[in-house]
Amino acid sequence: MKEKRRFVSTNQERCRKSIPLALVLLDNVPTLILFILGTLIVSVLNPLYGTFYIIYSAFGIFWFWAKICPYCAHYDTLSCPCGYGFISAKLSKRKTGKEFKKVFRANIGILFPCWFIPPAVGTYLLLDYFSFYLLIYVVLFCIIGFLIIPLISKLAGCRNCEIKEDCPWMNKC
Ligand code: SF4
Repeated sequence: MKEKRRFVSTNQERCRKSIPLALVLLDNVPTLILFILGTLIVSVLNPLYGTFYIIYSAFGIFWFWAKICPYCAHYDTLSCPCGYGFISAKLSKRKTGKEFKKVFRANIGILFPCWFIPPAVGTYLLLDYFSFYLLIYVVLFCIIGFLIIPLISKLAGCRNCEIKEDCPWMNKC
C-alpha cells in the first residue's frame, strides 16, 4: 500500500511528530474562506474598504509568521498544526530571549480586526438596509470565525500538540 504523504523536517528531533497535509489544510481552508467572506461583506460598504480588509488580513498573517512563530517550539518544524512554523522559517530567523506566551499575547491582537470588522460592518449595513444575501454572509462569517475555527484547533489541530500547555491559544478557555 502506498505510504501517505507526510512531511519530514530537519528539526524533527525537537518536535517528534509530523502533521499530515490534510490536517494542515483543515486548519487553513476555513481561515481563507473567512477572509474571502470578510472581503465580500466589507466591500458592500465600499469595494476599496474590502481591498483594505484583504490586504490587512494578509499583513496580519505575515506579522504572525514574523513576530510569533519564531519563538515557538514548532518553528522550522512540520509539527505545527497549521504549517506556519515551516513558512515562518523561510521568512525570519528563530528568536529567543522572550517567553512564547508573552510574545503570543503581545502580538495576537494584530489579527483581531480580521475577525471583528466584517461582522461589525455587516451588522451596520443590515440595520441600514436589510439584504438576505448579506445576512447569509455575516452569519456564515460568524459561524466559521467564532465556532468552526476554534473547534478545529481544539478538536484537531492543537489537540495532540506537545506544547499546548504553554500555548495561550489553547489555554484561553
Ligand atoms: S504552533 Fe502556532 S506559533 Fe507555533 S509555529 Fe505553529 S502557528 Fe506558529
